[in-house]
Amino acid sequence: MKEVDIVVIGAGPVGLFTVFEAGLLGLNCVLIDNLDKPGGQCAELYPDKPIYDIPGVPFQTAQELVDALIKQIEPFDYELVLNERVDEIKSIDADDKNTSWEVTTSEKKSFKSKNIFIAAGAGAFEARRPPNINNPDKFINSGVSYAVRSKDNFKNKDLIIFGGGDSALDWSVELAPIVKSLCLVHRRDAFRGAPHTEKKMRELVAEAKINLLTPYVIDKIIGNDEVTGVSLKNFDTGDIKEHEANELLFLFGLNKKLGPILEWGIDLKDKKIPVNTSTYSTNRDGIFAVGDINDYEGKLDLILCGFHETTIAVQEAYRRINPGQRVPFGYTTSNSKLQAKLGVKS
Ligand SMILES: Cc1cc2nc3c(=O)[nH]c(=O)nc-3n(C[C@H](O)[C@H](O)[C@H](O)COP(=O)(O)OP(=O)(O)OC[C@H]3O[C@@H](n4cnc5c(N)ncnc54)[C@H](O)[C@@H]3O)c2cc1C
Repeated sequence: MKEVDIVVIGAGPVGLFTVFEAGLLGLNCVLIDNLDKPGGQCAELYPDKPIYDIPGVPFQTAQELVDALIKQIEPFDYELVLNERVDEIKSIDADDKNTSWEVTTSEKKSFKSKNIFIAAGAGAFEARRPPNINNPDKFINSGVSYAVRSKDNFKNKDLIIFGGGDSALDWSVELAPIVKSLCLVHRRDAFRGAPHTEKKMRELVAEAKINLLTPYVIDKIIGNDEVTGVSLKNFDTGDIKEHEANELLFLFGLNKKLGPILEWGIDLKDKKIPVNTSTYSTNRDGIFAVGDINDYEGKLDLILCGFHETTIAVQEAYRRINPGQRVPFGYTTSNSKLQAKLGVKS
């Protein structure tokens, strides 16, 4: 089990900035997110939307902000763990005093730390499951996926992609050259994705590289231990037809779920975590909540508020690791280690 100074749950903007503030104090972090990329809501929900209220930055798209935050933490010591959800938090001090915690992810990776920062926004983003299919997850790793972790998983496979948004279009275009066959199934012949990607998809249909099946919805997954096909229902007529496949990729968008956070023994109020605003700590020793997930009088769900909160919380994390020591304070311009890492000549 790897030991780190801070485990950050959630790689949204506030989680990313936590790494910066921790780095200034010489603390290392592991940053865990169940999405396949950092950036939280900014990257997942509105990457192209402009943001006007980051101090000193009159205009930036949300993705540009995320890219800048990632650039800003480059000099520091952190590990980014993606595609894994933090499922369990367990105290590993018998008496629960100056607690250390063990954090375990959905892939059974464990970290030990004195400080946990919950920067989980409105909860973990989770892929929507296909409607009316009983327990599709029993085929995970044997033919059902909700995201592309590695393109190689689909090489030379008979793949069916379900969905009508950007992800379904992007991955149809991207995977068509490497699969054995590819069907794109959507309940109507209109798509919600970028027009230029839809155009590219339709060109591939014309070249017989994609088989576009509309207006269809999934009716059943066929297979015992692994997927061998599906039955599809015509959305207009109700007619059923079967189709062979060994990989199904469902891209129906994401839900936000507090999920495991509800099990961690942390006080919650209306799906938010109340905090003490002098340290942004929760009711549990060494567990902090920063960004959209927390609540206190006057709270605003804004990125800059989360940046402030985590800056203060990191000070307390330092004190927990170095009891009795004064937290070093200085402007970044006088932080020689940072300057050296950035290659700034004094
Ligand atoms: C359409 C829209 C426009 C907005 N515009 C602005 C704006 O202009 N300016 C502004 O300041 N704010 C804006 N906001 C709000 C802003 O996006 C949020 O305040 C900000 O994203 C909060 O950051 P965060 O890091 O706290 O959480 P999030 O960005 O929500 O990130 C949390 C991350 O934690 C992950 N996570 C949760 N639980 C777990 C778990 N158990 N294990 C692993 N990972 C987990 C999630 O998958 C997610 O990636 C906007 C929001 C929306 C929806």
